[in-house]
Amino acid sequence: MKICRFNDDRVGIVRDESVFDVTAQAYAAHNDAVQDVVIAALPRLKRLTEAEIAACPARPLDRVQLKSPILAPGKIVAAPVNYQAHIQEMHASNISPGHNIPEIGKAGLFLKANSSLIGPSQGIALRFPERRTDHEIELVAIIGTTANEVRHAESLQFVAGYCLGLDITLRGPEDRSFRKSIDSYSVLGPWLTTADEVADPQALQLTLHNNGELRQDTPTADMVYDVARIIEFASSFYTLHPGDIVYTGTPQGVGPIVSGDRLRAHCKELGTMDVEVRAAG
Ligand code: MN
Repeated sequence: MKICRFNDDRVGIVRDESVFDVTAQAYAAHNDAVQDVVIAALPRLKRLTEAEIAACPARPLDRVQLKSPILAPGKIVAAPVNYQAHIQEMHASNISPGHNIPEIGKAGLFLKANSSLIGPSQGIALRFPERRTDHEIELVAIIGTTANEVRHAESLQFVAGYCLGLDITLRGPEDRSFRKSIDSYSVLGPWLTTADEVADPQALQLTLHNNGELRQDTPTADMVYDVARIIEFASSFYTLHPGDIVYTGTPQGVGPIVSGDRLRAHCKELGTMDVEVRAAG
């Protein structure tokens, strides 16, 4: 099942080129134990029959404003340096001068501010246009149930679903979490694809085009720490809660974006999202 948030905090099920509005059903399933309405409603939404979905008001997908499928996560966890070819390009290009680029096991994970989170329709607002700012396409896992000190073999059971993410990155000397936490620098979308539709998160192909030119094109099999190991690693330090968001690192091909650019992130199983870049202000 593919579940989106759209327009004025409405919840939809995406089927081909249509969005079926299931806002009423989603909110009816809300429970106080799980903060995020979409995550709380997943069991109920999955039980909807074809007839019940077909009876919901439908809109063309290309006529809705797609927002982040998760509205207010407890935290946004992110993996640095998780593809070997990206580590090599960082060493070779010197685009992060002054930063150590160790392996992920030594670097650990970092957190991005929740206030940086947007959906594809909202666009990226560049706050420091005079400084290099890069696109990073990433596979993102959304936590569905509380995970604390989970083992690798079981950790994917705690994943509700997957999304595409853009971890937009201001280059420079500041700490990672500061440079990557600017408003609109965490794009999530185009919708949440439930985990049952992703047989193997390490068997996906991520592509990113900028203005129609292919910039990133890598299989998730190339991750240094696979999704399960990232969740194991994260939960060995802190509890992951339902609705927490886990960015799993960018592959090679990162490059600068400027106002007017149009990014297209794509994965066959997760969908396509178009994101415009503008100057903040
Ligand atoms: Mn990243």
